[in-house]
Amino acid sequence: MKQIGLLFLCCIIFSAVSLGQEMEESESDSLYLNIIIPEQDTVIYPFSRYRVAANTNPNAVAYINGKKVKVYSSGAFITMIDHDADTTDIIFSVEMNGESLSDTMMLVRPAPEEPDLSKNVISDLMVEPRSDTWLEPGEALHVQFQGKPGEDAYFNINGFTDNIKMEEVSPRLVGGKKGVYRGTYYVKDGDIVKDAAITFKIKKGLLGYHKRESTFKVSFLPEPIVGEVIADDAYLNVGLGTDRLGGTKYGSIPEGVKLNISGMQQGMYKVRLSESLDAWIPSRFVELTGDDLEPVSSLTGNIRVSGSSSHDLIRVTLSEKLPFISTQEIDPNKIIVDIFGATSNTNWKIKYLTSEGIESVDWEQVENDRFRLIIKLNNTQNWGYSIDYGWGSILDIRIKRPPTLTSVIKPLTGRVIAVDAGHGGSNNGSLGAAGFQEKEVTLQISELLKAKLEEAGAEVVMTRTDDSYVYMSERKEITLDNNADLLVSIHTNSIGYGSNPLDITGTGSFYKHIAFKPLAEIMYNRMTSLGLDDYGLTGSFNFTLNAPIEFPNVLVETAFISNPEEEILLTDTDFQHKIAEQIVAGLEQFYLEHSFIESVSEMPEK
Ligand SMILES: [Zn+2]
Repeated sequence: MKQIGLLFLCCIIFSAVSLGQEMEESESDSLYLNIIIPEQDTVIYPFSRYRVAANTNPNAVAYINGKKVKVYSSGAFITMIDHDADTTDIIFSVEMNGESLSDTMMLVRPAPEEPDLSKNVISDLMVEPRSDTWLEPGEALHVQFQGKPGEDAYFNINGFTDNIKMEEVSPRLVGGKKGVYRGTYYVKDGDIVKDAAITFKIKKGLLGYHKRESTFKVSFLPEPIVGEVIADDAYLNVGLGTDRLGGTKYGSIPEGVKLNISGMQQGMYKVRLSESLDAWIPSRFVELTGDDLEPVSSLTGNIRVSGSSSHDLIRVTLSEKLPFISTQEIDPNKIIVDIFGATSNTNWKIKYLTSEGIESVDWEQVENDRFRLIIKLNNTQNWGYSIDYGWGSILDIRIKRPPTLTSVIKPLTGRVIAVDAGHGGSNNGSLGAAGFQEKEVTLQISELLKAKLEEAGAEVVMTRTDDSYVYMSERKEITLDNNADLLVSIHTNSIGYGSNPLDITGTGSFYKHIAFKPLAEIMYNRMTSLGLDDYGLTGSFNFTLNAPIEFPNVLVETAFISNPEEEILLTDTDFQHKIAEQIVAGLEQFYLEHSFIESVSEMPEK
């Protein structure tokens, strides 16, 4: 089992260089040298190991820094470089039939920053939490600046504190820098500060102090302020964590929802969901509506459970549009919706015969201000649902029914399936040493998949059909607008610059919501049946197209394009056909296991 945290670089490597063109110009019988990694002649790189990749004529002999390296049948050659000095040359050379070519690239270690210590200047002001900050009692305000070492330094929250001492930090802790001063203020009950700047002071010889005021502001406010969601793509984050996938998310939240905002850090508002639970939301999604309002809350009215031919509908009456979080359970199949700020005054719940997909809906008051709906489904598979505010502030939970198949021999007949070719346009995705780009390979596989799905009777919706850039939000819209049952996203995987491409291989499938694990598991089993190494079945995956709850979705990381052998497989048409066939077979299995089957007698075709 390999480590998962390191990888999935495929989604973030962007390159404007078109490698495809260079490839086409190369005659197969004349010598060529294409360097893939590094992508520029000089690369600033702080770590001690760096992977390089290039390609040449498959019959050539290749050397990197004088050492002979294996040339794969694709022409790819790779190695790991030790980068111990301040600069490391990477000399690529290739030879064939007495001809030779060579090129040199360079890795440069970033130079440690030397502060200007000649004056008592105050620079590099920092506050942690960063940027404008609004804190609650018990939280800490950390501030920092760069000045002349060995002096007395202070900070003040303007109009509120008087000369809080700052300490010089050991250079060991701050990358060898001298003269970094830090100070902390712990917010106390009853502290009230609104939009105050911070003044930093450092001694200026015998003559007094240098002063500098921050542009960022701090606030300590005793009560939450009501804010309203003003964007249609807003979501709630669990914490302030972030990485290339963004922070972990609870889920999306509709426009018009009222939130109790109790703090701000790093451009995110802190949302007080309940007595014991906070969430975070990017401040651009929220408009503060005034600090004179009472915190938002509501009593719940009755619960109405009904259905139509395609879905079931659960309605809860509220007097305000409150935030909610939904989760799922499998086996038994449930959807759980927590509504925050809601207290039960539900004196009845009514279920109509039309609600065929729902076994039961129960409620529970799990905290004073947290009302929970427990929705038990009649079927084994959750086919997606949406939660939104309908008329007024009635909460509508729409749950899709399983599809009804018209044929067990061709189970995909008439089904609408979304196929997502990863990356595209200016977003090349990851790069293989032989010069192939992820965006080309994902489109090739997706086109084969489309053809095979259509042969199997399905209608296919493609999120892109050419080399164009399509936003993630558009990819989701395309899936929803075309009423696709589910979405399969095709990618190729890659490793970071510090890992050896030979060490990391295999196929992986990814899901976020537990409800959609069965689909990912089937894809994973199908893909590993191709003889690819096992890169794992990954859940809770914070990928944008794994986030929708409206339809089952799976990310198939077919194999590692960064590994020269898997690059050969991924770009081999026969193998691409096999991948597409396995995905079709997996989808047929998924539909057969989790759909209704129309009761028509059917004889197998001859
Ligand atoms: Zn990708």
